[in-house]
Amino acid sequence: MGATGAAEACFSEGLAYSKEREVFGKPLAGMQLAQKKLADMATQITLGQLMMLRLGRLKDEGTMTHSQVSMAKRNNVHMALECARTVRDMLGANGISLEFHTGRHMCNLESVITYEGTHDIHTLAIGHEVSGIPAYR
Ligand SMILES: Cc1cc2nc3c(=O)[nH]c(=O)nc-3n(C[C@H](O)[C@H](O)[C@H](O)COP(=O)(O)OP(=O)(O)OC[C@H]3O[C@@H](n4cnc5c(N)ncnc54)[C@H](O)[C@@H]3O)c2cc1C
Repeated sequence: MGATGAAEACFSEGLAYSKEREVFGKPLAGMQLAQKKLADMATQITLGQLMMLRLGRLKDEGTMTHSQVSMAKRNNVHMALECARTVRDMLGANGISLEFHTGRHMCNLESVITYEGTHDIHTLAIGHEVSGIPAYR
């Protein structure tokens, strides 16, 4: 899924930047709060990649369901948007500069979270699947 690739791109940019950018005499990447952000993103991206791998295998087997697609889209687009927002913050003022790509990914992901099917509607599709009760109206 493209959103997962966008998350990876943002993470890579944030990691490279935070290793170069010095704050209070040492690289940003050496600060505990920055490492928590990097660790959280690396974990969420890995989980998203594993979900896509599993979904691809289910598709190949011909057993993939629409609610599984909703689960993957809902999780990974939201995850990517959160990564983009986090790295945009880690870049400081440079995060709003076109010199860096994370801001562009963040703006694009704000439209992806609608056009891949809205987060709310994927939530309702999953809720319908697990409860057996449709809550669309
Ligand atoms: C850049 C872009 C590209 C697109 N490309 C395509 C495309 O190629 N093909 C295509 O078919 N469509 C495309 N779309 C359309 C996209 O799929 C729809 O915009 C999207 O499904 C949301 O529909 P809507 O805009 O009518 O919003 P609405 O359905 O009016 O939703 C508005 C808000 O209400 C929420 N909502 C809706 N129903 C409920 C409910 N029952 N309970 C709770 N909340 C609800 C939604 O989650 C959303 O937050 C694209 C949209 C964009 C922005």
